[in-house]
Amino acid sequence: MTVKVRFLGTGNAFADGGRSHACIHLEATGASLLLDCGGSSLPAIKKSMDPATLQAIAISHLHGDHFGGIPYFLMEQHFAGRKAPLAIGGPRELQQRATRAGEALFQDFFGKIAIDYGLSFVTLKDTPVSLGGAEVSALPVKHIAESDPHGLRVKIAGKLVAYSGDARWSEELVAVAKGADLFICESTHFSRSDPAHLSYRELIANRAKLDCGRIILTHLGAEAQAHLAELELEAAQDGMLLTL
Ligand SMILES: [Zn+2]
Ligand SMILES: [Zn+2]
Repeated sequence: MTVKVRFLGTGNAFADGGRSHACIHLEATGASLLLDCGGSSLPAIKKSMDPATLQAIAISHLHGDHFGGIPYFLMEQHFAGRKAPLAIGGPRELQQRATRAGEALFQDFFGKIAIDYGLSFVTLKDTPVSLGGAEVSALPVKHIAESDPHGLRVKIAGKLVAYSGDARWSEELVAVAKGADLFICESTHFSRSDPAHLSYRELIANRAKLDCGRIILTHLGAEAQAHLAELELEAAQDGMLLTL
């Protein structure tokens, strides 16, 4: 069984280099879900797939470049005539925040028109839950505390895909990455120190602590993009597709 990993958005919140906001598609037989759905995700999704085929969305934390695409996705699927249920997992306040965002963006839709496909929200925790044909759990990481930051662990078609979400270096990332076949890790910076984000240099300095296979960098800001040629780890780019 194989897992397709498609990087739909690999940029930071500022869309440095024109990269789209965080959005990664995981697909296997009977499974199809997004990891994060940032503000610019709907156009990125529609460039490469039919949104109706998505069963679920897992959100790492409550920043717009990671969950801001949800209102657009929900509304588009309503008017596209979606019938299949959609499950969305993420931080405890995700449903409330996504609803408020929807009401702010499309007051005429959210709160007035009932979404007529089965839409459900679930809080992701350290105990895995079924989501989009995969088993998904979330572990706390260090980022901006108000965003309720988590790393995600996704068991799909016998493979384990781990995703840092946004995080500065902490031992918590060791737990997120443990045993993963693929660890998708943020690397907002190349060497710049930031209390909210990782740099490539920090990740390399701690690489030996990570018990995981392949590592792919994402959430790349301008400084990291300027040093792409020097990276000893693979860096994602928008539209990149790989198979596990
Ligand atoms: Zn971010
Ligand atoms: Zn963030």
